[in-house]
Amino acid sequence: MKASAIAHPNIALIKYWGRALDQPSYLNIPTNDTVSMTKESINYAKSGIDLITHTTIEFSENFIEDTGFLKTNEKLVPFDNVQMKRVVKVVEALREMADITLKFKMVSENKFPTAAGLASSASGFAALATCTSKALNLNLNRTELSKYARLGSGSAARSIHGGFVYWNRGNSHDTSYAEQICECNEFDIAAVIAVINRGKKDVTSDVGHDSAHSSLFNQIKIKESQEKSVEIRKAIENNDFTTVGMISEKNCLYMHSVMMTSDPPLFYWNPDTLKVIKAVINNRNQYFQTYKMINKGVKQKEKEGIECYFTVDAGPNIHCLCRTEDIDAVQYFIQNKIGIQERDIVKVRQAEFGSKIVEQHLF
Ligand code: ADP
Repeated sequence: MKASAIAHPNIALIKYWGRALDQPSYLNIPTNDTVSMTKESINYAKSGIDLITHTTIEFSENFIEDTGFLKTNEKLVPFDNVQMKRVVKVVEALREMADITLKFKMVSENKFPTAAGLASSASGFAALATCTSKALNLNLNRTELSKYARLGSGSAARSIHGGFVYWNRGNSHDTSYAEQICECNEFDIAAVIAVINRGKKDVTSDVGHDSAHSSLFNQIKIKESQEKSVEIRKAIENNDFTTVGMISEKNCLYMHSVMMTSDPPLFYWNPDTLKVIKAVINNRNQYFQTYKMINKGVKQKEKEGIECYFTVDAGPNIHCLCRTEDIDAVQYFIQNKIGIQERDIVKVRQAEFGSKIVEQHLF
């Protein structure tokens, strides 16, 4: 009864922030539908950031208690009580379904910074639900896996799938799950991450969710996010990069406005985050200006600026969304015009799959 799985994190285009008040909070049901892209890194040799989690779980009568470890720098570090509670929540639900009482050992490795706003909780719990289902011989389909991954972390519901993903908020454990909008590369978009800080954030998202409802802006954000989820889904299906970029950027600002005006206030950005945000906007404005002039027949020496948009999850690190053909130009811009070091830049493409069983075990 041992199995391993890998999973990729995702970047939210319509964010999950705050749990639905009319649902039990342990279900992690969001206030609105959300949308994401499951992501994979291209240049991990340079950045050392490989956007993937690998998890192994075993159930055995030899174990006298449930244990969980995060493999960090080749060492096994036991999960602390809060982290272990989240792991047990997912495993226990599946263990009950399998009708067994055997204890488990679990080891997981994030090949990228944990708790830094790059969505380790999403890939972590997607990988956990997937390997647990296999080890217990439940062999759940992706819809079911999405529901159980959600119990560990809401955004993990989306990391079960590759490509673009829509999470229906639903109104119960059974109706709140993610589905794929389209397969990898059916919509042309890529991203470049400016890694501003690899360290752990001061407030985990799990704790931050609880304060969302204290912001005056939250109700507006919920209404807007619900409408825009439907709109962005259509734009993805229509390969409309500009609409997807504009909606994503605005939705990120709505979420951070709620965070900053919550009680207590939450500031995930730092000065370099704002520096990159402003540079992305200027660069894009330049692109549109050039575009307008060319349309008016004014001759340009060369194409200036790039059409790119930013989005920031709960952390200081920024995803610059761009067309795939512009990914090197965006990297060049972030490195040479904004001054972010090459090792802190991660080029990202859409991941073909979200979670999947692998043969290789971590213990
Ligand atoms: P992030 O932006 O990286 O998702 P969060 O604060 O939302 O940051 O989540 C980090 C938390 O997610 C960790 O403290 C831990 O509880 C959980 N987590 C991260 N990676 C794993 C993993 N591989 N397996 C199980 N839980 C994990």
